[in-house]
Amino acid sequence: MQQIARSVALAFNNLPRPHRVMLGSLTVVTLAVAVWRPYVYHPTDDAMPIVKSIELDKNQLRTLLPEASEPIDQTTSEPEEELPADDIDSDVPDASGTHEYTVSSGDTLSSALNQYGIELGDINALVNSDKALRNLQVGQQLSWTLTDDGALQSLTWEINRRETRTYQRGNNGAFTMQSEMQKGEWQNSVLKGEVRGSFAASAQRAGLTGSEASAVIKALQWQMDFRKLRAGDEFSVLMSREMLDGKSAQSQLLGVRLRSGGKDYYAFRAEDGKFYDRNGSGLARGFMRFPTVKQYRVSSNFNPRRLNPVTGRIAPHKGVDFALPVGTPVLAVGDGEVVVAKNGGAAGNYVAIRHGRQYMTRYMHLKKVLVKPGEKVKRGDRIALSGNTGRSTGPHLHFEIWINNQAVNPLTAKLPRMEGLTGKARSDYLAEVKTNLPQLSFK
Ligand SMILES: [Zn+2]
Repeated sequence: MQQIARSVALAFNNLPRPHRVMLGSLTVVTLAVAVWRPYVYHPTDDAMPIVKSIELDKNQLRTLLPEASEPIDQTTSEPEEELPADDIDSDVPDASGTHEYTVSSGDTLSSALNQYGIELGDINALVNSDKALRNLQVGQQLSWTLTDDGALQSLTWEINRRETRTYQRGNNGAFTMQSEMQKGEWQNSVLKGEVRGSFAASAQRAGLTGSEASAVIKALQWQMDFRKLRAGDEFSVLMSREMLDGKSAQSQLLGVRLRSGGKDYYAFRAEDGKFYDRNGSGLARGFMRFPTVKQYRVSSNFNPRRLNPVTGRIAPHKGVDFALPVGTPVLAVGDGEVVVAKNGGAAGNYVAIRHGRQYMTRYMHLKKVLVKPGEKVKRGDRIALSGNTGRSTGPHLHFEIWINNQAVNPLTAKLPRMEGLTGKARSDYLAEVKTNLPQLSFK
């Protein structure tokens, strides 16, 4: 418990500051695009039983203006500073400011980046620099960095193990592409170790780099709470590393076995870049799309570039507002641990839940909070009753989803799915596991 309390107390502040840059160039047209685009909705991308497509008629769209539920003249309408982190974040940070994404089925460059609030103009500029970006393949990796005012700065596309393309924004706003062909040899190596102290330190002693340790934590995030590891727990990791001049240039985690408290946990990478258990079953339990039993009207949409009409500054709206009666039960959208449950402030009474290592959800302006920090919750558990507390202009629920410390559009974000592999993908995977598993022995 102390550990949890300490983690929660570690207020966290490495998020992008609210963007305070004047947006002189934001025309009425691009603003309209920003408001409209989140409704390009792809119901097939998600766990089907949970997702319903949102059809909005013209009447409803009229209420989607940003000022609908929270006062826009308050740039601090949400608690920017309070997204909690814990020990593991500080031990194995991701490359700062870099966002990562694995292409999954049905993705286009536009749908992949759009859920993070990257503007269509930026996406078009990218495609103009390289038409090949129209043909993303499942399992490829994208990573990108943003400028201080939230525009796309650079994007890296790992096409395959041989080729990586990087797109860098120039002064004229256009992107230039650079292709890099890898020359090294890929080799598999097995790294074994025992937990003493933090996992990050133990992994380092076993020969893993910081980003390799981070990959292990992410692969096992739905099975294992790394803060609960004990001295003497064992791990065995299969890495594929590209060796260049005797050094490892880049690497990919292929599989991991972790023994904690006498129990073994496994995760293996499939062709799609995702991790599954030994039988090809999915590791994450799916998320619900909406934090309520039924679907309510959207009164204000996700908009990272929301413009304050008075000051002309950007006042991001990092979540979506649902108009619903005070006292409506609010549900956890996925399994997780409550990291914030507090009363008062601009957000009103609010709850934050951490799901695995990469996901966080926040629920604001509540009437009554029903959970405590440190409490474990299951998908669908009642965590609060909705309200109208804090800076709010009417009864509503403000709901946010964060992935890798970045707010995403809750209506379009790709959420963890629980489906496993099927058909040929599964048989290929099982054959691979059969080869790799024996290497992950402990002695
Ligand atoms: Zn809101």
